[in-house]
Amino acid sequence: MSNLDHAPAATPRQTAILIVDDAPAQLGLIRSMMLQQGYHTFVANSGERALVIAQRAQPDLILLDIVLPGMDGMEVCRRLKAHPSTCNIPVIFMSARTDTDDIVAAFDIGASDYIPKPLRLAEVCARVRAQLHFRHTSTSQQQQADRLRLIVDSMDEGLMVLEPSGRIQYTNPACNRYLGYAPNELAGCSLDDLLAPSVAQEYLELFSQSVLDASAPNWRGAREVLIRQRDGMLRAMDFTLTPMGSEQPLFVALLHDITHHKQSENALQRAALIDPLTKIANRRHFDTFLDKEWQRALRSGEPLSLIVLDVDHFKGYNDSLGHAAGDACLQQVAMALQSHALRATDLAARYGGEEFVLLFGETGFEAACLLAETIRAHVESLNIANPRSATSRWVTASLGVATIVPTQFDDIKEFFVCADRAMYAVKEAGRNGVRAVQTGATFDTIADVLAS
Ligand code: GH3
Ligand code: MG
Ligand code: MG
Repeated sequence: MSNLDHAPAATPRQTAILIVDDAPAQLGLIRSMMLQQGYHTFVANSGERALVIAQRAQPDLILLDIVLPGMDGMEVCRRLKAHPSTCNIPVIFMSARTDTDDIVAAFDIGASDYIPKPLRLAEVCARVRAQLHFRHTSTSQQQQADRLRLIVDSMDEGLMVLEPSGRIQYTNPACNRYLGYAPNELAGCSLDDLLAPSVAQEYLELFSQSVLDASAPNWRGAREVLIRQRDGMLRAMDFTLTPMGSEQPLFVALLHDITHHKQSENALQRAALIDPLTKIANRRHFDTFLDKEWQRALRSGEPLSLIVLDVDHFKGYNDSLGHAAGDACLQQVAMALQSHALRATDLAARYGGEEFVLLFGETGFEAACLLAETIRAHVESLNIANPRSATSRWVTASLGVATIVPTQFDDIKEFFVCADRAMYAVKEAGRNGVRAVQTGATFDTIADVLAS
């Protein structure tokens, strides 16, 4: 007989059975049979003792006599089932009481099986084996489920289980965290509550297609979507949806937050369009903008005006005052130009060196001439002294203007060359002035607005 004080708790390899019976002969018989089957055994001859051993030794199964002195087997079972550490141990009753009421009562309090006495030993062995097998299977299923739950709960990616109607069945903690919801708050909500209606509709159509024809789901894997958080803010996410392959048609969505990634991508894109010295648009930005405005003017028939501006005698400025002062001067000029390009269809850019360009969408010839003259006067009025200038005390600029109503016969490069040529004409004419050209298939007018 094992004495609990000496016996270590059963190792997982050796299955342990606790046998509870007040009849020593019966106890000995069952015990030797269990030993023969290769089980480790504990024995108890009273209900109280049985509870103590069950708690400490955590047997895999308990064979429990009902009629015991003191606490009877029914009460023992009730207490075992009421205690978290013993509630999952299967209990097999052994009793001479074979009334239906007794048997039903035993199952009602949580017994796993009920063996009538006198015992048929082979039957006892078979029932013990069956219960142990069942316990083993359900324990490993439970362990597997616990492990999966742990993985899903500790994942850094959001996970969502969806029904074909778009109803959310489950969200993991990362998903709740990303979207600002409390645990279980999203369960029962709809995909429409999170996605733009058109995107949600697309998914619902995919769901119904997949339910109709499970063999040919046309999944597109990950895609970027904007998901609405609980506070209404939108969050950029990689959203991957896959059918779960379960009996019930369900879909699993993985959410990977890319908001930060998107923000830095946007910041990079913005940085790629800005001139680092003057902080106004750079040449690349200007070229794209000109292209877009040209196309728009082609469609609308509205005029488009371009100003090419070059700072006069800037080499001398640098030579006399230094490169840093030259930089500061360019920054001041850029700010002045920027202040004249205020509409969404206007853009001021640094084209390179001390050459700037301004584009004015929906701006005709006269308005462009006026603007150019205002800009020229503005640069001069900055009163930046240019000691080496042969033509003025101040930093000045030469401006060439071209206006066009583009048609399919016109060329965007020629348009630019026109403004550039006009600017060089001003240089030749003495600088600090404006020359404007109305160009394109329909016009070829030149006007000079030279400063005095
Ligand atoms: P013009 O009136 O004929 O335009 O004469 P210019 O001296 O302005 O023209 P030029 O092309 O001979 O000289 C342009 C100068 O602009 C030369 C160059 O050192 C200077 N420059 C170009 N980019 C920068 C810059 O980023 N910073 C500074 N400080 N100077 C620059
Ligand atoms: Mg110059
Ligand atoms: Mg130049």
